[in-house]
Amino acid sequence: MHEAAVAQSVLEAILAEAKKQKTKPLAAKISCGVFNNVNNEALRFAFDAISEGTVCKGLKLNIEQKPIQAHCKKCDSSFAFDLHEMNCPKCRSDDFELLPDAPLLLEEIEFEEK
Ligand SMILES: [Zn+2]
Repeated sequence: MHEAAVAQSVLEAILAEAKKQKTKPLAAKISCGVFNNVNNEALRFAFDAISEGTVCKGLKLNIEQKPIQAHCKKCDSSFAFDLHEMNCPKCRSDDFELLPDAPLLLEEIEFEEK
């Protein structure tokens, strides 16, 4: 995924919300799956560059990477997939499937107190 495009869509979402709230956004938290391959530093850099001249200038961007979720076909439980532990933490079965990577999500925006 291209960080500049991601930064642009995140910025647009925050600006839209800021307009509704009529206040300045201070920080935002986004999350994405580890396989989304968004480079945190590159994303912050791109965001800083395009937020220049908007109310989002200087906004603190927190990026949380979510582990891949797996689903065990034997005991029907879901767990965070760990490359070092290739079986279900509950029943130790290795008959599981990986669930789709978490999409990029804007989780929360922190606004300045009015
Ligand atoms: Zn299991």
